Amino acid sequence: MIDEYGREISYLRLSVTELCNLRCRYCMPEDGVCKKRHEDMLTREEMLDAVKAAAELGIRKVRITGGEPLVKRDILSICRGVARTEGIEEVCITTNGLLLPELAKPLREAGVSRVNISLDTLDEKKYAYITRRGSLAAAVAGIKAALDAGFDKVKINTVLIGGFNDDEIPALAELTRRYPLDLRFIELMPMLDDREFGPEAYIPCSAVMKALPELQPEPQDKGVARLCRLPGALGCIGLISPVSSHFCASCNRIRLTADGKIKPCLHSDQEFPIKGLDHEGMLRQLRAAILAKPPCHQELSAQSPSHAGRSMNQIGG
Ligand code: SAM
Ligand code: SF4
Repeated sequence: MIDEYGREISYLRLSVTELCNLRCRYCMPEDGVCKKRHEDMLTREEMLDAVKAAAELGIRKVRITGGEPLVKRDILSICRGVARTEGIEEVCITTNGLLLPELAKPLREAGVSRVNISLDTLDEKKYAYITRRGSLAAAVAGIKAALDAGFDKVKINTVLIGGFNDDEIPALAELTRRYPLDLRFIELMPMLDDREFGPEAYIPCSAVMKALPELQPEPQDKGVARLCRLPGALGCIGLISPVSSHFCASCNRIRLTADGKIKPCLHSDQEFPIKGLDHEGMLRQLRAAILAKPPCHQELSAQSPSHAGRSMNQIGG
């Protein structure tokens, strides 16, 4: 479906849970989320019905996210259902990777073609610090499992955090030379009011270009990342700059939260509830949400945080 500003909306980010087995400092409060009532969350059937309705309106790609999607009990059956939905051409998942040693192959068999794994540091102590509870060895085992399972693409997502991992840009980039991995550097977005990292922690993606002057431009794909590659590298490097350079003009996505709210824009508090609706009701709300997509989001900066009204794990990053 085409929105009011001529953008073709073909991409749904489906959050299947707000819960997570980590507590990344830029994403989630230390004490986790205030657990919502089970009956307020979308059921598997409602998620699949929403995907079916979205496909009828032209959604072709679904990214399953969260919270941590792999802690969701029926994640395989959700992935299978999404992959079998008529009109859906691509199912991807974003995960912290910790549960991939058990789940990578079953996810592949369930129809997931691509996986993005979040990894902000290559240092064990720093990993434990940023995630508040994770083990780097477990994340690395997850990345290996994803490579072994034969996904079309395995990507690493790294949030750039000044004073935390800016010194690791070359080492992280080196992964693309040694392994068939793509890497995305993502600018830190100021999502939470009481966030751990203030203005000093934001660094623009241009810091990556400075740290890696040998980067060469690559042909762009349909995504929002500016693509480049280290000479001779197996994988490419993408720079995602939601703060320093908005990509709203080419935004093709909507989001569905685990508690059943369609969000037309990540940084707006506008939400369209679908919990409990029948198929026609879902179609109506999806149409309304697409037509309500703003032309662009407000200026994001360390001083003016997102108006999303939710933390990232509650939206589906
Ligand atoms: N748990 C999964 C994971 O970590 O990949 C999926 C959900 S997580 C919310 C999705 C992505 O959002 C991750 O790559 C994470 O690093 C990113 N993210 C979370 N909070 C962010 C923030 N404030 N700014 C930029 N990216 C953020
Ligand atoms: Fe969990 Fe992902 Fe948020 Fe980290 S970024 S707390 S892994 S949802």
